[in-house]
Amino acid sequence: MSLSIEALIKQTALQLAEAGSDSPQLDAAVLLCHVLNKPRSYLLTWPEKMLEEEQYAAFDALVKRRLTGEPVAYILGQREFWSLPLKVSPSTLIPRPDTERLVELALDKIPAQPCSVLDLGTGTGAIALAIASERADVQVTGIDLRPETAALATENSERLTIRNARFLAGSWYTPLAETAQFAVIVSNPPYIDEADPHLSQGDVRFEPKSALVADDNGLADIQIISEQGRQHLQPGGWLLMEHGFEQGEAVRTILQELGYNLVSTAQDYAGLDRVTMGCWQG
Ligand code: GLN
Repeated sequence: MSLSIEALIKQTALQLAEAGSDSPQLDAAVLLCHVLNKPRSYLLTWPEKMLEEEQYAAFDALVKRRLTGEPVAYILGQREFWSLPLKVSPSTLIPRPDTERLVELALDKIPAQPCSVLDLGTGTGAIALAIASERADVQVTGIDLRPETAALATENSERLTIRNARFLAGSWYTPLAETAQFAVIVSNPPYIDEADPHLSQGDVRFEPKSALVADDNGLADIQIISEQGRQHLQPGGWLLMEHGFEQGEAVRTILQELGYNLVSTAQDYAGLDRVTMGCWQG
């Protein structure tokens, strides 16, 4: 098969669109860049260039996987978050652009002085590493339920030479000393209700249910994190959690009933409720 870069992208994008991808052009370009080991600008600079036989075969194999619905991030084993290239695996959620909003809001609440920050349900380590990369004076701890996921986050920190983040395995706060306290606790926990049709659509189908689904209309883990967070926040410390766009009021109520102050909800880049925060006065 001999096709130019331009023709190949066009043809592949059509196939991917038909298979249900909502970003067919981008998927084709990203997969081709991976095979060619070139930046995206290369595709625009050399649209007439023909692929070599083995490059075409390698590209075809990746496209076949994408045609079954497998997310591009899992096919490449990588996703960028906060400009940090992160290794991802099918045992981790794929970091979302909207979660960068949680990072921005958390950075805003982290005191100017050196302090400690906790990221619960860290997955690839995306949030923890973004914060650690911005604040070299802050010690960040990320916790994930699965040891292999905590190991992946550690690997990401090593690849990025981020030295002020460490990763532990266990359920929520359990790997911590009872007396451990933080200036800020952040989390993008599972918050989707098991019956949500969103779970059987697109890329989400391939992601671990344990990272997506929670009991009590998706609020069970948010409740646990908020309850136990009171013991692990310094006086004046902040808890910030990502949640579903219809959960703002429910999460504010959870925090208020537990005695948090200054409870408020912030919106994501699409203007939807996405992050709720509260201050623990101690
Ligand atoms: N925002 C993600 C989604 O809707 C879910 C992330 C999560 O459950 N923490 O697919």
